[in-house]
Amino acid sequence: MAEQSASVTPKWVYVFAADRVDGRADMKDLLGGKGANLAEMASLGLPVPPGFTITTEVCHAYFANGRKLPDGLTPEVEAALQLIGNEVDATFGDVERPLLVSVRSGGRASMPGMMDTILNLGLNDETVEGLAKRSGDRRFAYDSYRRFIQMYSDVVLGVDHGIFEDILENFKNLNGFTNDTELSVEDWGDIIESYKAAVTDQLGKPFPQDTGEQLYGAIAAVFGSWQNARAITYRHLHDIPDDWGTAVNVQAMVFGNQGDSSATGVAFTRNPSTGENEIYGEFLLNAQGEDVVAGIRTPQPLTEKARRLAKEENPSLQALMPELFAELSAVFKKLEARYRDMQDVEFTIENSKLWILQTRTGKRTAEASLRIAVDLAQEGLISKRDAVMRVVPASLEQLMHPTIDPGAKKEVIATGLPASPGAAAGEIVFTAEDAETERSRGREVILVRLETSPEDIHGMHAASGILTVRGGMTSHAAVVARGMGRPCVSGAGILRIDEEAGTLRAGRHVLNKGDLITIDGGTGQVITGRAKMRQPELSGAFATLISWADKERRLHVRANADTPRDARLARGFGAEGIGLCRTEHMFFDQERILAVREMILADEEADRRRALEKILPMQRADFEQLFEAMAGLPVTIRLLDPPLHEFLPKEPRDLAGVARDLGVPLEKLRARVNDLSEFNPMLGFRGCRLAIRFPEIAEMQARAIFEAAAKVGQKSGVAVKVEVMVPLVAYRREFDIVRDIVLKAARAIEAESGAKLDYQIGTMIELPRAALRGEELAAGDDGAAFFSFGTNDLTQTSLGLSRDDAAPILEAYVKTGVFKVDPFVSLDVSGVGELVRIGTERGRAANPALKVGICGEHGGEARSVAFFDAIGLDYVSCSPFRVPIARLAAAQAAIGGKTDGQTATD
Ligand code: PEP
Ligand code: MG
Repeated sequence: MAEQSASVTPKWVYVFAADRVDGRADMKDLLGGKGANLAEMASLGLPVPPGFTITTEVCHAYFANGRKLPDGLTPEVEAALQLIGNEVDATFGDVERPLLVSVRSGGRASMPGMMDTILNLGLNDETVEGLAKRSGDRRFAYDSYRRFIQMYSDVVLGVDHGIFEDILENFKNLNGFTNDTELSVEDWGDIIESYKAAVTDQLGKPFPQDTGEQLYGAIAAVFGSWQNARAITYRHLHDIPDDWGTAVNVQAMVFGNQGDSSATGVAFTRNPSTGENEIYGEFLLNAQGEDVVAGIRTPQPLTEKARRLAKEENPSLQALMPELFAELSAVFKKLEARYRDMQDVEFTIENSKLWILQTRTGKRTAEASLRIAVDLAQEGLISKRDAVMRVVPASLEQLMHPTIDPGAKKEVIATGLPASPGAAAGEIVFTAEDAETERSRGREVILVRLETSPEDIHGMHAASGILTVRGGMTSHAAVVARGMGRPCVSGAGILRIDEEAGTLRAGRHVLNKGDLITIDGGTGQVITGRAKMRQPELSGAFATLISWADKERRLHVRANADTPRDARLARGFGAEGIGLCRTEHMFFDQERILAVREMILADEEADRRRALEKILPMQRADFEQLFEAMAGLPVTIRLLDPPLHEFLPKEPRDLAGVARDLGVPLEKLRARVNDLSEFNPMLGFRGCRLAIRFPEIAEMQARAIFEAAAKVGQKSGVAVKVEVMVPLVAYRREFDIVRDIVLKAARAIEAESGAKLDYQIGTMIELPRAALRGEELAAGDDGAAFFSFGTNDLTQTSLGLSRDDAAPILEAYVKTGVFKVDPFVSLDVSGVGELVRIGTERGRAANPALKVGICGEHGGEARSVAFFDAIGLDYVSCSPFRVPIARLAAAQAAIGGKTDGQTATD
């Protein structure tokens, strides 16, 4: 309509009826989603109650006019009313054969329940008698009228609906009734009189008897509801522009409450929880739509199969009305063929006549989403590419871990951040040591900490799940838990831990060490006892869909894995290599930490080297296993990164024991802890700074890496592809110094073993300076052979926002709209993303063959992956459990606008 010139009267009203359909499915902007769908269904010849849609342009005109309906609307509405009346053999306002209508909102995007609806419009003191006569059911007619008075008065006239509820309640109390069904026709007549009196009392004028006044009042009210507070808030939360406006649908009423040959129901064209190709839904005999929603009566299943499964005694629709069931099934087939997706349909049967009231794309679980997409492609309704676009990548997380059974009973005592998905149950322990001990006794435990630190790694490994009081989505606990695939709830701020007393408090609940709890890392819930779980299942459809995705994607997908177990897991999920092995995690093992501490406490280089000698064989053994697990796929190993103090005990009370184990005076240990303590450890003595100050650490690590590579390569006959990565580089000189150390080790081992090593030396890009100086870092034969963007650090260093202290700030920033989403979860594309783009471009300007990847947490997040694809990175690397997500997200990014199917947005 936009192209119409001002001199032509715009078309305000679009009819959908058996004989005439003005609208089309692609007119959502003008007719709203509901209006466009109704037009589409009418065009398909489906039994839709006739009606018309008043366009969103009228909504704009209404507000532009100071909340007045535009001139020229009335004749169009009158003509449309005439037309639909003819179709159902009724006339609006007619005393004998009154046409009743519903008036509903319907914008471009669905905003369920946010705007207003009015049903049974067109009833007054006279038409109600016509309805009574025509339906042969006076009680039904009066009930409809009193519902209408209540709804209209509330929505259009602004009379508090509580007044009507009180009238009805009082009436029932006075007469000793408990249910509405006990009221007789006369009783409803009395109620109607009281309702009308209440309106007069409230407004000083009577309830409108003029059906035209009713209709235009309702249309204006529904347009007006676009600007009610509820709708405005909903739009802001869901990014729906304020200027879209809503359309209004006026539709002939059909009644499912006209006796036992009438019914109303809702159905999914396929099972929304499993995806199975079977009709799924419920109906109520002799009822109206609201009754199904209100849950006053228990609906009956549609199919015999569902009835048997539910052990329901009342008959299914299939058994009760076989012809109508067959008609309904045929409608579903038509709808699926047209919409090429599973539909969620509302229907009514009025005196054995089927009416379809609404259809929309049905919501579904991740499992169902996979199955339906694959089935639809195999049925030829959509292409494989469309199928790949249909599944929301993040939803796959639901399938990768045990989850709480949707039907489980649960008592939620706290809610934190859903930091790492999956559910876990176990006994409460408060220390990493206890976690390990209990685990070794075969018990399942949940490690509950104020926050975790690298020292807790072994305990986190031993635990089935991790719960912290502090920390955000990229806190240590969250990152490590995701990497390990351990469910984790972080930042559950209402919890109070008393480690001494061995208690965990959540409001009035006091739990003790050893008590069972369940955490749900998908929702952040903390639950008492052991909740019922469902085990992860990679169904056939899952594998099929991901294999289709793999054919589409350009980006490679690797995994962040530190242990052979993680590496094997990652390969199972389809990782094409390891993009980040954080070597420090290998140091926290009970027997190694002692040698690491010896190394840190050494005063002289010679002592340090002696301690490193002890660590070398252990590191080498780790790498051997890792290389074996990856069988020739590339493995990126990062040199030691964290500040050294992380390897020393934090709590003063733990110092004495460690000093004893190390055989050093307590004072010396204390002094070293003091020396190493920093105000901002994340900006301190870490990354390549460690290797530059203590080259022997990097030397030992390089040696362990290359010795392992030589050995595994010789043994297996498959060359190991190693990529040694230098962390936290800002300057070329830093890289050169560390590269030299690594290179020397490689050459030495080649000479010693006679093996030809296949290796590259590259750098992480985690600091803005490194991104800006990408060209310098990659320049020349001796420049970095690859870049791997560490977007966790790059985000914290670009924003100057500590990832470990961000939680309270993030909350306020998301609330106030500074951040749309947590930038540690979804890449800040315009800022941090710009640095990634610049770094990549500049690096490749110096070396077009430069391999570029990303190994921050963003590598497993769909929106970020789309960006990394767009700027031409070679790979993303993410925790093993997110590899399938990244594979799918990479495929969707590659397909991008190429599909004509729906995108995975619903
Ligand atoms: C990063 O900074 O993005 C990264 C992968 O390294 P880490 O999380 O270990 O600092
Ligand atoms: Mg980092």
